[in-house]
Amino acid sequence: MVRLGKNPEHDPTRRSTCVIGAGLGGLALAIRLQAGGVATTLVEARGEPGGCLRRWRRDGFTFEEGPSLLADPAPLRELWSLTGEDLGDAVTFAEVTPACRYSWTDGAQFDAGSGEAELARQLARLAPGDIAGFEEFARWAAAARIDGWQRLGESALHSPAAAARALPALVRSQGWRSAWGLTGHYVKERHLREALAFPVLQAGGNPLATSALHLLGQPLASGTGGWWPRGGMVALAEAMAARFEQLGGTLRLHDPVVRLHAVGNRIAEVETQSGWRAHFDAVASNADAMHTYRDLLRDLPRGAQQARRLARRDYSPSAFSVHFALEGTWPGIPHQSVLFGPRFGELIADLFDHGVLPQDFVLTLHHPSLTDPDLAPQGKSVFRATIPVAHLGKLPIDWETVAPLIEQRILDEIGRRLIPDIRDRVITSFVTTPRDLALELNYHMGSAWSLAASALQSGPLRLAHRDRKLANLYLVGAATHPGAGLAAVLAGAKAASLQLLEELS
Ligand SMILES: Cc1cc2nc3c(=O)[nH]c(=O)nc-3n(C[C@H](O)[C@H](O)[C@H](O)COP(=O)(O)OP(=O)(O)OC[C@H]3O[C@@H](n4cnc5c(N)ncnc54)[C@H](O)[C@@H]3O)c2cc1C
Repeated sequence: MVRLGKNPEHDPTRRSTCVIGAGLGGLALAIRLQAGGVATTLVEARGEPGGCLRRWRRDGFTFEEGPSLLADPAPLRELWSLTGEDLGDAVTFAEVTPACRYSWTDGAQFDAGSGEAELARQLARLAPGDIAGFEEFARWAAAARIDGWQRLGESALHSPAAAARALPALVRSQGWRSAWGLTGHYVKERHLREALAFPVLQAGGNPLATSALHLLGQPLASGTGGWWPRGGMVALAEAMAARFEQLGGTLRLHDPVVRLHAVGNRIAEVETQSGWRAHFDAVASNADAMHTYRDLLRDLPRGAQQARRLARRDYSPSAFSVHFALEGTWPGIPHQSVLFGPRFGELIADLFDHGVLPQDFVLTLHHPSLTDPDLAPQGKSVFRATIPVAHLGKLPIDWETVAPLIEQRILDEIGRRLIPDIRDRVITSFVTTPRDLALELNYHMGSAWSLAASALQSGPLRLAHRDRKLANLYLVGAATHPGAGLAAVLAGAKAASLQLLEELS
């Protein structure tokens, strides 16, 4: 093997890997590799782990971006037990009930993940004709979670043979139906159907087109609730980074990788902005796929070739968020709500197909200080309102100019529907836009969930965990199988680690 540089952390008797990017996929992969006996270095551009789970501390408030909840801590429990410890010793989870309150402009409301008795009451009120169909939907979700989601998600569908083996599970779990098609198969009432199909959007998918299996990584109406790590989602990422270091892994923060050097068809060295260079037996990138090929591999024909291919692919939407702190507390506003606008199907088409900025929106309101009062000073609250918007390729607007207008419209909508005197109560607020995702996380066109979760970009047609030309280059995270979203990137990290550990042994 050719050795170009000297890795100060490298023990010549052990295999070594560098994971680029400390998003949840990168963190989970790094833990699995280190626990599997591979000397692992995790290099992150930003000052803290978590990737798109970003945190800001201002005036005594803690603001966060990214997912508002975990659907199920089981994959993290499994990750921790692999390291010989109990997740409960590192992270305290609060159960969040309801997991989500859906509300519509006509006054309809539905609390999802609210426990069996409450769910029965909700269904009897909103959709009495759909009670039997809802039960069937819940049975589908329970069976498909194991058959469709776990079995397919955690397998590396890197070859036609592996994909063929997965086909029966895909058919049994109705993975060929879209979220909208599947929910319509079980329930007829419009509001209920929108609420059941919506979670696919939280994983970056198009509810009208993306496989219903992508629902299963999100808290579901048929489930008991969601889970919130005390201190926030970034605290969870910090606990993962701490566990990785306790296992002997090396974490380099604040040091973006700028180039991957190759010899023949192998990556030989990783070079960072600070000038650090080191050799590894394998390299796994959790950074955005286009950034990895176009920028980090710019010296190689493979980098340019893949960048050209990725430029022709379809990307998921981006996100715009207003983070705000308010005077007062709102025990009646749940941890997470979805405020639908007047349109659903047409709005989804505007977002995914037409790439326009519509007047209306579907808004996710996150209220973490309800569950975790330490995130705000006493008597005050923290909120975040997020709307999906088309990515910068479809909607190339100047976000700096547009952002204040959208912020006003979002706050006005919350004022009309939930907090009438919101304007008088705002202590501080700021926005994050698609441009921030592009600049701060290197997301291609600011797409928040990477490659779109379409049929032509799923399973074996999504990026494989192992590059097809560069023998020791791996990918992990939202661009790879099974896709974006917390549960998906954790499942993908498991699949990637199995492949990597096997190939390094
Ligand atoms: C606003 C928003 C809301 C979301 N809401 C939900 C939700 O409700 N439910 C859900 O399941 N999912 C949601 N997601 C998606 C989910 O959070 C992501 O799919 C998932 O966390 C992505 O993880 P990842 O492993 O792909 O890494 P990422 O989070 O993309 O992290 C990649 C890491 O690589 C680092 N990096 C980039 N370039 C370099 C470099 N050159 N050198 C070193 N490091 C580098 C970045 O700084 C980053 O830390 C949301 C995402 C966003 C942005």
